[in-house]
Amino acid sequence: MSVPRVRVVTLNAALGPLDYRVPDGWQVEPGSVVVAPLGPRQLAGVVWEPERLPSEEVGDNRLRYLVSQLDVPPIPAPLRRLCEWTADYYLSPLAAVLRMVLPSSAALEGSRQLIEYRLTGLSPDRMTPQRLKALAALEGKQGTIRELAAIAEVSDAVLRGLVHAGAIEQVAVEADRPLKTPDPDFARPELTDEQAEAAASLTGAIGRGFDPVLLDGVTGSGKTEVYFEAIAECLRTGKQALVLLPEIALTEPFLKRFHARFGCAPVAWHSDLRSSQRRRAWRAIASGEAKVVVGARSALFLPYRDLGLIVVDEAHEPSFKQEEGVQYHARDVAVIRGKFEDIPVILSSATPAIETRHMVELGRYRELKLEARFAGASLPEIRAIDLTQDPPERGRWLAPSLVAELEANIDAGEQSLLFLNRRGFAPLTLCRHCGHRFQCPNCTAWMVEHRLMRRLACHHCGHVMPPPKACPECGEEDSLVACGPGVERIADEVAALFPDARTAIVTSDTIWSPAKAAEFVAAMETGEIDIVVGTQLVTKGYHFPNLTLVGVVDADLGLAGGDLRAAERSFQQIQQVAGRAGRGDKPGRVLVQTHDPEAGVIAALVSGDIAGFYGSETEARRDAAMPPFGRLAAIIISAEDAGEAEAVARRIGNAAPRVEGMAVFGPAPAPLAMLRGRHRQRLLVHAARSLDVQDVIRDWLAELDWGSKVRVAVDVDPYSF
Ligand code: ADP
Ligand code: ZN
Repeated sequence: MSVPRVRVVTLNAALGPLDYRVPDGWQVEPGSVVVAPLGPRQLAGVVWEPERLPSEEVGDNRLRYLVSQLDVPPIPAPLRRLCEWTADYYLSPLAAVLRMVLPSSAALEGSRQLIEYRLTGLSPDRMTPQRLKALAALEGKQGTIRELAAIAEVSDAVLRGLVHAGAIEQVAVEADRPLKTPDPDFARPELTDEQAEAAASLTGAIGRGFDPVLLDGVTGSGKTEVYFEAIAECLRTGKQALVLLPEIALTEPFLKRFHARFGCAPVAWHSDLRSSQRRRAWRAIASGEAKVVVGARSALFLPYRDLGLIVVDEAHEPSFKQEEGVQYHARDVAVIRGKFEDIPVILSSATPAIETRHMVELGRYRELKLEARFAGASLPEIRAIDLTQDPPERGRWLAPSLVAELEANIDAGEQSLLFLNRRGFAPLTLCRHCGHRFQCPNCTAWMVEHRLMRRLACHHCGHVMPPPKACPECGEEDSLVACGPGVERIADEVAALFPDARTAIVTSDTIWSPAKAAEFVAAMETGEIDIVVGTQLVTKGYHFPNLTLVGVVDADLGLAGGDLRAAERSFQQIQQVAGRAGRGDKPGRVLVQTHDPEAGVIAALVSGDIAGFYGSETEARRDAAMPPFGRLAAIIISAEDAGEAEAVARRIGNAAPRVEGMAVFGPAPAPLAMLRGRHRQRLLVHAARSLDVQDVIRDWLAELDWGSKVRVAVDVDPYSF
């Protein structure tokens, strides 16, 4: 008789599945979450169907016993299938995917009580600079000692000292209070005919199996109200709904709307949760207590007990593509999850990706259209400003005609938005005397001047330096000039032009939390802001009825570089930002500054020929056999030593198999040739749609090895390259 054994996928991505012996009397099944011994350590893992995963044969006598079983529901079969699919498709270890299902603090520390602390308001008898720093930083904060230490940037010992001195106390831990259940009939809106028709089609799909739907409606048409009806129906059937949002800063306005419609808040899932909140949310999701979950892309892999609907809001957003670790696209994986769970998936967007439209053309997704803005609001008129004909004054960036419109808007008491997708003051600092440019030491990137924060920063690795007083190359003082505008510089120009106007800068530097977003929304709503200067962060989700003028400072910016998606992306961004104008009863207008008003993107925006633009972009992709008509995968080889990266890249390139329907380009320096101190080489694989390119790459790379100093990552369906 052989002993009872199970196959376990642990969270260690370097290891394959391992077999363990099950202690007598345990009930384990595929999906059970267990703790297994691994050398001297212990690691969580999930029991898997052995026939689905090959493993090394281990004799009964060498099997080790499982250590324990976690008191959480088993990972359901559809989610296990999704994990396998994701690992396969994105060429990632199954364990790496599983880590998104069981984020460590939620699962591993799941059964341990997390003790939280906060300030008491009392001062310690003995004050030190470290203590002072901690007390200043922790005002109003709560969390575990480790979390608070990270916030205050002091050691655990400093905080423990403060606990001892009575300045920090343990927070009385309440037993987890039951979550409120959203009420599907709390405040039902009266839908327009068009909305009601779309909503009926969606509610009719709940409980009827897999059904991917593109909800395609102009900005302000009420897409959110419409998919809320689908969520309501899902709630009535007792199932869970998941809403994926692209940006955490957007969750606050969303939460408010959700609350107004359903009478309580949904469960939020994002990277800023404290461990205790994360654990609570994870458990409520796994038990089925959390009925509606809204989150960033990482919420997609959680173990919902009984999922009935997935909504991907602003589905065209590039931030759904994960660029590190498992490089998955949450929009695409959401549809796959819908398939395994056999439920509807709604992709909501005013500017759907070409890939998504193509799926509609192929008949794989349904399309529901909303053509009218709510409450008779009209779509804004878009006009181009030809900067060659109407140039800004020297050293300025806003054309006289845009300035005149801003002035008129201020006089009318209406709000304006200037859009420029560049954080900071200036993207480049240059020495006029010797030509020196300030570059990041770790990346192929310029150091961006952030004048408000008094420093230069690299937007890729976070490297910062104080603003230079002299050129490090020639020593010249007063020779440094800021080149080009960022939002801060535009805000300065606005302040110079309209000293009395109240201006707000909206970027990820200023709006870095839901609370900051809420402050901004409140200030807009109460009319405390006249002009917003912002990056893509302001292009989505917000609804400000008194915002009537949008100025796009540099419409040519996104078109430089020649990326496959440059035109599409630019079009989406300008459409989205234009969609912020005139959402109330006052009409909106949009002025787009460009050096090339004849360019396809600009001409399409001005003429409103959206179908024409999509048509010609799609044809161009078809002609070049680019996605969605062909497939791409990037193999990125990186190492601290440039020579090592090159050598391995060449070896991989030389080993490329000859396969009909596939071409390999490179190796060549990757678009960011150096990133975070690592030199990067790239091979680009271009293949026919019908080719199983993952299979080819898997076999190709399996033949090679490259030691631990070189990293090789495959980006399947790369977003930008
Ligand atoms: P979209 O998501 O398509 O941009 P929203 O759902 O945000 O559009 O709707 C735009 C605005 O109009 C929101 O303030 C929303 O509350 C309001 N709105 C849309 N439809 C209705 C409706 N049927 N009843 C009441 N308000 C609505
Ligand atoms: Zn850098």
